[in-house]
Amino acid sequence: MYDANNVFAKILRGEIPCNKIYEDDKVLSFYDINPKAKIHALVIPKSMYVNFQDFLEHSSDKELTDFFRAVVHVTNLLGLKEGGYRIVMNTGKNAGQEVPHFHAHILGGEVLPTDQI
Ligand code: AMP
Repeated sequence: MYDANNVFAKILRGEIPCNKIYEDDKVLSFYDINPKAKIHALVIPKSMYVNFQDFLEHSSDKELTDFFRAVVHVTNLLGLKEGGYRIVMNTGKNAGQEVPHFHAHILGGEVLPTDQI
């Protein structure tokens, strides 16, 4: 069940600010407020999905394609193509997902630790 009071829903409604990187009619990208890498961006769909599982099970093929193309677009905007980056999509409590609105983390700008994955 989607909780419309989550922080990313509030950002999408303009109730709280974000440091925007990219926006189109389907997707919003902004910097993570508590960066875990030199560059730490988030990409979220504007539609209401709780997490990766919900998004993959209930979105259309076009929504999926639009979302992941937007993720790559953001990596290009951030200059991460050459050096590489990590995409993380925490899903559910065992992954420690804090915000129940589907999002992809983009981490890069430096060599990232490999002790977790
Ligand atoms: P997750 O643990 O995968 O749900 O990640 C949620 C992320 O959202 C964390 O990295 C938080 O630092 C980030 N976050 C929480 N509130 C905000 C906010 N208001 N603006 C930007 N990022 C946020």
